[in-house]
Amino acid sequence: MEKIPVVKARLADAIGQSVCIQGWIRTRRDSKAGFSFLEVNDGSCMGNLQVIADAALANYESEVKRITTGCSVTIEGQIKASEGNQATELLAARILVHGWAEDFPLQKKRHTFEKLREWAHLRPRTNAFGAIARVRNQACRSIHNFFQEDGFLYVHTPIITASDCEGAGEMFRVTTLDLDKLAAQNKQVDYSFDFFDRPSYLTVSGQLEAEIYATALGKVYTFGPTFRAENSNTSRHLAEFWMVEPEMAFFELTDNMDLAEQFLKRLFRDALDNCQEDMDFFAQRIEKDAVTRLEKIIDSEFVRLPYTEAIAILESCGETFEYPVSWGTDLQSEHERYLTETKFNCPVILYDYPRSIKPFYMRVNDDERTVRAMDVLVPGVGEIIGGSQREERLDILELRMKEQNLDLEAYWWYRELRKFGTVPHAGFGLGLERAIQFITGMTNIRDVIPFPRTPGNAEF
Ligand code: ATP
Ligand code: MN
Repeated sequence: MEKIPVVKARLADAIGQSVCIQGWIRTRRDSKAGFSFLEVNDGSCMGNLQVIADAALANYESEVKRITTGCSVTIEGQIKASEGNQATELLAARILVHGWAEDFPLQKKRHTFEKLREWAHLRPRTNAFGAIARVRNQACRSIHNFFQEDGFLYVHTPIITASDCEGAGEMFRVTTLDLDKLAAQNKQVDYSFDFFDRPSYLTVSGQLEAEIYATALGKVYTFGPTFRAENSNTSRHLAEFWMVEPEMAFFELTDNMDLAEQFLKRLFRDALDNCQEDMDFFAQRIEKDAVTRLEKIIDSEFVRLPYTEAIAILESCGETFEYPVSWGTDLQSEHERYLTETKFNCPVILYDYPRSIKPFYMRVNDDERTVRAMDVLVPGVGEIIGGSQREERLDILELRMKEQNLDLEAYWWYRELRKFGTVPHAGFGLGLERAIQFITGMTNIRDVIPFPRTPGNAEF
């Protein structure tokens, strides 16, 4: 007997087939006429398969009537056309219960997302977390498909790194030194005894290494876990998240913006096309505009706005912000949200930021005050992508490094990329979880990654 997933058993094509399905019980209802309805879900889709369990089954009284939400089962039988609102149902010939589920916590009422975070081992068995997992999986496929179809090379950049480039303060340290022993002996840390002979960390970005490959192979992307020890408890920050970072030789900032826009639209389109049932669920239960919002964005053009114009808009808009704005300050999320939600109500690409608030590797504009940075902001989430055209001129790069008190020696290999066959190039980083938040309408980033890592939380 062929084992098939519920997603296939629910299609009209399956009618007449003898099949075996395996999954978990969502509900059991007993009819007065002496049979039971079971709703079975196996994670292959949002919808359940309805199973008719007749009293003639050998274990009907002894087992079937004891089945509760959460039990695991194998059911063999024949797929029939359904008279109800679904296309098919399964008439069971044999039901095997693998595991009972007494006192299953998800049995009764609907739980809050906060509560479900305490049950990271059980929450994938809910409709919402099943849907999120499938949408996340689809997004990962789309990421690879999008770049692979466009001739990008997938490069694995290191997770452990000794270059403490950007987020010095936000980095997790990696060490094999016995810290307890050092502390007990009141000793100073000597990194020459550490595993890598130097301080090392978990990566905050694969960009610098991606640049090495882009300046040899053209168009590349990295996609992997990224770590930031940000001590902020926000609904948009994780200590461990997944970042997609394309890096392209011979790309300028406008090429970079075009790519970012096409890329996001592809992710949204694929989610709508390939996860319809899940997206309908989000529209019904999480955010009523989940589907229409994405459709609208796919058909629209992102607003492109220089930082300087954004500041002028914010200064004259008449809103009172908690943090004042003026040229030269970094935008706070309240400002970003005003622009993308209130002012334009669509994605906004902000670009050409002041050089003083952006990292050394961003290309300096002719005005010498701004750099070729870009952030993509979306309603509800805020910044989803950060990127730039990179500084390819060695003298200016070194000037910028000195300006920011960086140790030029430590970046010798990065500087050599500019010394030998330098090219204009650009890239960006998309936070996968922020993209999933935007697609699903989920308000907290902890609910769109299977095992969220945040300050004080690493149990599962
Ligand atoms: P923010 O200002 O929102 O903290 P950032 O400017 O520090 O973000 P970048 O360094 O530009 O972020 O990283 C690129 C992208 O990675 C961001 O646009 C965002 O989508 C994602 N990202 C950054 N930090 C985090 C985090 N702690 N958790 C989840 N995603 C993140
Ligand atoms: Mn950023």
